[in-house]
Amino acid sequence: MSFSSLELPKYLLKALEAENYAKPYPIQEMAIPAVLAKKDILGIAQTGSGKTASYVLPILVNLDGIETPSDLHVSTLVLVPTRELAIQVADVFTKFADVMPYRCKTMAIYGGVAADSQMYGLRDVSILVATPGRLLDLVESNSVELSAVSTLVLDEADKMLNLGFKEEMDEILSLLPEKRQNLLFSATLSPHIENVRNVLLNDPLVIKIEEKEDDIQLINQTAYSVEDEQKGPLLRYLIREKRMDQVLIFTSTVHSANMVAQKLNQNHIDADAIHGKRTQKDRMAALRDFKKGRLRVLVATDLLSRGIDIQFLPFVINYELPRSPKDFVHRIGRTGRAENPGEALSFISEDAEHHFKVIQKKMKKFVDMIDNEEVSKLITPPSKK
Ligand code: AMP
Repeated sequence: MSFSSLELPKYLLKALEAENYAKPYPIQEMAIPAVLAKKDILGIAQTGSGKTASYVLPILVNLDGIETPSDLHVSTLVLVPTRELAIQVADVFTKFADVMPYRCKTMAIYGGVAADSQMYGLRDVSILVATPGRLLDLVESNSVELSAVSTLVLDEADKMLNLGFKEEMDEILSLLPEKRQNLLFSATLSPHIENVRNVLLNDPLVIKIEEKEDDIQLINQTAYSVEDEQKGPLLRYLIREKRMDQVLIFTSTVHSANMVAQKLNQNHIDADAIHGKRTQKDRMAALRDFKKGRLRVLVATDLLSRGIDIQFLPFVINYELPRSPKDFVHRIGRTGRAENPGEALSFISEDAEHHFKVIQKKMKKFVDMIDNEEVSKLITPPSKK
């Protein structure tokens, strides 16, 4: 199937070609015609499936011919769980809106930065991408009006609920007109999502994109049996030995993210840390530098394991394991995406061995383990005879 058979206008087809979107991904094949026909959708799909474009493109087409708002009313509202995802989704809207023959202003609003600048930018916005808390703040200060929303998107709804946004979501829903199109995307179909689905969706088209085994199979995985004090030397050895120019390292706490980045910098390996305790400005700067290839190592907590798309990331390292096997898959899924081979390396200390077995079982893939003796040899410089 081609994008042109999905009845998208010529200017969008040209933009898709320029973006190297050769043909629609499965979720796009199914969602685009349904969204164009103003149907509700329940999409069970992960980041990486192409779900963003599956709603961005038809929403933009549907806005054609609708009078552009000339005040504080928005017509499309996209709710997302994190600031990073808000920025990423708004960027996709803006990229494609730029080629549209009519004006269609998109804006992202999220917490962690001063509300003032967002407050003043909200005039004449058609598409608003927002995290729930900041949206409610701006509604309260009469900076935005939701009573004319005709399309609502909940992206990564499972994450939004996990982060405790249920009350805020309900409050926002109560401010929207009853008659509207609802598009719900979630990585999993939990009982909570079933509840939201029942309240929100009207005879939806259900699209389930299974995570392809291949996606995981595509990733070269190696695990290293380590003692805690070997992690730092092994990390530096691997970065140098494998000539890693761009590597994302995951830790389980803010403290160890900071420590790992600090230690790498002391060893003249350019690194920065990104986690919930850093300011939004610093997080954005680090992520931008990393994506552009200006920063060699980004150390992150699980804040980044979901939702953030970094194209062609060759290496991911689990310095510490995440608690949930799902998060493990999300983490290593930052590499080996869009048919590019990637490498995921995991450091397994003795107390994490059992947990790693559980993860591998859930993942249905067993990973080659380099034993501790071998690790010791790797990081011990050959003695001078
Ligand atoms: P998403 O799941 O929306 O985060 O998209 C994952 C990645 O796939 C993004 O980098 C998109 O730019 C890319 N992408 C989405 N749709 C297509 C397509 N049809 N062809 C090629 N790349 C795509």
